[in-house]
Amino acid sequence: MFQLQTPQILQPISLPTILFHCYPSTRSSHYHRPTSVAFHCSTNATATTTLSVTNNNHLIQSLCKKGQLKQALNLLSHEPNPTQHTYELLILACTHQNSLSDAFIVQRDLIENGFDQDPFLATKLINMFSELDSVEHARQVFDKINHRTIYIWNAFFRALSLSGRGEEVLSLYREMNRIGVPSDRFTYTYALKSCVVSESQLSLLWRGKEIHAHILRHGYEKHVHIMTTLVDMYAKFGCVENASCVFCAMPVKNVVSWSAMIACYAKNGRPLEALEVFREMMLESEDMLPNSVTMVSVLQACAAIAALEQGKLIHGYILRKGLDSILPVISALMTMYARCGDLELGKRVFFLMDKRDVISWNSMISSYAIHGLGEKAIEVFREMVRCGVSPSPISFVSVLGACSHSGLVEEGKYLFHSMVKEHGVYPRVEHYACMVDLLGRANLLEEAANIIEDMQIEPGPKVWGSLLGSCRIHCNVELAEKASKHLFELEPTNAGNYVLLGDIYAQAKMWEEVKRVKKLLEAKGLQKVSGCSWIEVKKKIYALKSMDELNPQIEQIHAFLLKLSTEMKEEGYVPETNVVLYDLNNEEKERIVLGHSEKLAVAFGLINCSKGETIRITKNLRLCEDCHSFTKFISKFANRDILVRDINRFHHFRDGECSCGDYW
Ligand code: ZN
Ligand code: ZN
Repeated sequence: MFQLQTPQILQPISLPTILFHCYPSTRSSHYHRPTSVAFHCSTNATATTTLSVTNNNHLIQSLCKKGQLKQALNLLSHEPNPTQHTYELLILACTHQNSLSDAFIVQRDLIENGFDQDPFLATKLINMFSELDSVEHARQVFDKINHRTIYIWNAFFRALSLSGRGEEVLSLYREMNRIGVPSDRFTYTYALKSCVVSESQLSLLWRGKEIHAHILRHGYEKHVHIMTTLVDMYAKFGCVENASCVFCAMPVKNVVSWSAMIACYAKNGRPLEALEVFREMMLESEDMLPNSVTMVSVLQACAAIAALEQGKLIHGYILRKGLDSILPVISALMTMYARCGDLELGKRVFFLMDKRDVISWNSMISSYAIHGLGEKAIEVFREMVRCGVSPSPISFVSVLGACSHSGLVEEGKYLFHSMVKEHGVYPRVEHYACMVDLLGRANLLEEAANIIEDMQIEPGPKVWGSLLGSCRIHCNVELAEKASKHLFELEPTNAGNYVLLGDIYAQAKMWEEVKRVKKLLEAKGLQKVSGCSWIEVKKKIYALKSMDELNPQIEQIHAFLLKLSTEMKEEGYVPETNVVLYDLNNEEKERIVLGHSEKLAVAFGLINCSKGETIRITKNLRLCEDCHSFTKFISKFANRDILVRDINRFHHFRDGECSCGDYW
């Protein structure tokens, strides 16, 4: 029995106004629902004020709760006075049973019974159509309702967001501001998220900043959820400083906010800061328990700088907190071990998993790939398919990358052709980039160029970048010029492309062209990314930069390197100075290559690591030819295993040889 306080004369049109005041709660027991009986009585000034809900309504509601939607709909057709709650449950049932056709029946019935302007049900309908993947029907409901409360706007924003229509959210958000509907925390969240899911990112950063200003103006700067979404938005735009400013200004932070900031640093190439924020988070409060998202970011940060010992500590922590049954955490753990150079531990984690999803398989494939074990990677790929797991587009990126690092040209071609034919996966730009890399590295540059010619989609910077990289390995000036012409148009501010072309000219001793490229670089105000190598010594991570002046041991390192190089030269080491972009004399070039960050890290490791301990280094760029031959030489000369991960892969240096077989 419901008690409904109806005014003496109730016009149907006044219904939304009544609900307006009691709307905020969606919990059915908190407010009185008008029944359709009210509408029927509305023409009668002597309407009774106490209305009973018919037995049919109760029956329909209980059928809905039991999931017997068809029977409920049957009864509905015989019920002259369905209530709002009945419709609410019917809408829920249609959503749960994923039935669009039944949804239309309910919607039609609801309109016939005069509930088409009910904001509560409109919100429910919009949510339902959104869940049923029919954003156009959600839009119709939104368009038809006359009195939109904030809840309806938010429901529609959610529907648009879920279907990836971020730009529409932003233009509606503007419209909403224009007509003076105040936003709430949900509105801000949807609007901020829409800035990053949209395609044209650059123009939308500006929109994001505008929403940031609205948020401050309306006093939401203390709202944890909104401010965390802001951190996330700036992180996705790569605006690390903005994210950090918002984060630092937050008076209250929860685990989600900390995780967002850690992820921001980890994903934007600042792993040391990610680990530092994690440390601060742990110090902040004992109650602050990291979740799986935090742990994945922290493991990614360890992997980025090959911080194996730190990674092992994190592994222990994950076990203690019982996070070791969460698939993304285990996959990240596996990748961390492999990327820190300990493939065996990575494999052990993989083999101990009792359940594997496509992400875990992909992690294992790419772990083998980065260690140059192409055949193993292909084996795992085949095993995955045998186990009935469908390869994802990323599986192919990983396995094609593995072929490329191991020079498995025929296998790579076979896998590439099998993508559509056997697995129904259509090649994307990333796959073409892998193929161009595979062929290019194997000095099949013409074939690589032909693949680009035949592409059905725009090649984009990844593909041209692969070609340019291969031209650098095989010193092909003509194709390099062609690739860089495209790259300069597509990525006018990427200094790396100019540097690569300059390298190729320098290799070919075309000094006038080298000068021209350098001028271009300067004119655009671009800076070459400077080399940086990380090394972990006694559980601490040290970053060494080319021409580093800040390291307190720097003089000792330089003196040590000079001594080593002089002794090694007597044993037959010849510095490869043609990697230097300048037309200088040999002595000066030798001095420059001796200052490369990777050599500084090797020397730092030899000075500070215990005897016999493997030296593990990570470098942010590709290893140059001279650092490669220097490290090969030193591994024999100093009788030391040295493990270097450059931007592409691992190099295991031992006894004067490298695991890559000089193919990198
Ligand atoms: Zn070097
Ligand atoms: Zn190597």
